[in-house]
Amino acid sequence: MGDRVVLTDADVERAAVLVAARWSGCVPDAVHGLPRGGVTPARLVAETLGVPVTQDPVHAVRSGLSVLVVDDLVDSGSTARALLEATPALSFDALYRKPHSPAQIAPDATLLDGWLVFPWETDDEREGPTDAVVRILSLIGEDPNREGLLDTPKRVVKAFREMTEGYRLEPGDVLGTTFDVGDCDELVVVSGIHFDSLCEHHLLPFSGTAAVGYLPGERVVGLSKVARLVELYARRLQVQERMTTQIATAIMEHLNAQAAGVVLSGTHSCMSCRGVRKRATMTTSAMFGRLRDEHALRAEFLRLIEP
Ligand code: ZN
Repeated sequence: MGDRVVLTDADVERAAVLVAARWSGCVPDAVHGLPRGGVTPARLVAETLGVPVTQDPVHAVRSGLSVLVVDDLVDSGSTARALLEATPALSFDALYRKPHSPAQIAPDATLLDGWLVFPWETDDEREGPTDAVVRILSLIGEDPNREGLLDTPKRVVKAFREMTEGYRLEPGDVLGTTFDVGDCDELVVVSGIHFDSLCEHHLLPFSGTAAVGYLPGERVVGLSKVARLVELYARRLQVQERMTTQIATAIMEHLNAQAAGVVLSGTHSCMSCRGVRKRATMTTSAMFGRLRDEHALRAEFLRLIEP
C-alpha cells in the first residue's frame, strides 16, 4: 500500500489550485466539500474560482445552479459514485486519486500512491490503512462498494487498533502499584485468565487461558493487575511461546519475585480455519527463578493450576 505520505497545508493548496484550473473553463456556480476531507479543499477551490461554497449541493442543483463537489481523495470511489448516481447533475473532482481508483471518477486528479495523511486529520481518522482492506476485499472477489461492505474497511482498521492496544502500555504501568507483604514464602497463583490475541503470522485470533503464579519477593500486586498484564501482552501481534515468556519475565523484573511461572493454553484459528483445519490446544510454559530449579515448588504450582 506504499509509504506514509504526510501532506502539508502547502501541498493541499497546490493541489486545490490545480483543481480550480481544471474548472476555469466552465466555472461552476458553487462548490461543495464532502465531509470531512473535502471541506478545506472546497473552500480553497471556491476562493480560487471566486464562487461561493454551498452546504446543500442537491438543493442548489435543483435550483438550476451548477455545483462542483470536491473531495480530498478518490480511493475506491464509492463515496463519489453513490453521490453522482443519486444526483447526476453534480460535477465531481478531487485533489488526489490512487493508482487503483476507478478511471472515470476524477480522472485528472493528481495521482499519488501511499497512505495519505492530510493536515486536518487526527490520529484516529487517518484512513490510509483502509486502502489495504479494500484491496483484500477485491482480492477475494468481493465488491468493496457493496452496501454491506462500505464501512468494513474502517471497522477492520478500528478493530485491529483495539486488538493491538497492548503496544501502548508498558508492564510498569500495570505492575506499578504493589503491596508490601513482608516475608512471604507462599506461591500466589491466578488461573483461568481468559485471553484473546492475534497470531503474528496470519493476523488471526488465538485465544485461551493463562495461569500465572509467582513467589513474591517482598511485594505483591492485586489480582486484577495480573489479568491486566496478560491482556497487555495478548493485545499485540504474538506467538504464544513468546507471550508466555514475556509475562513471566515482567513479573520477575517488576515485582522482584523469587519465582514466576506462566502456563498458557490456546487454540489458534490460523490452525483451525486454514492450513490443517484442525482444532487443537497448544500449551506453553515458562518457569523462572526458584520454579525452574526446585521440583517440589514447581509440582505445587502445577497442582494449583489444575482446572
Ligand atoms: Zn498463525
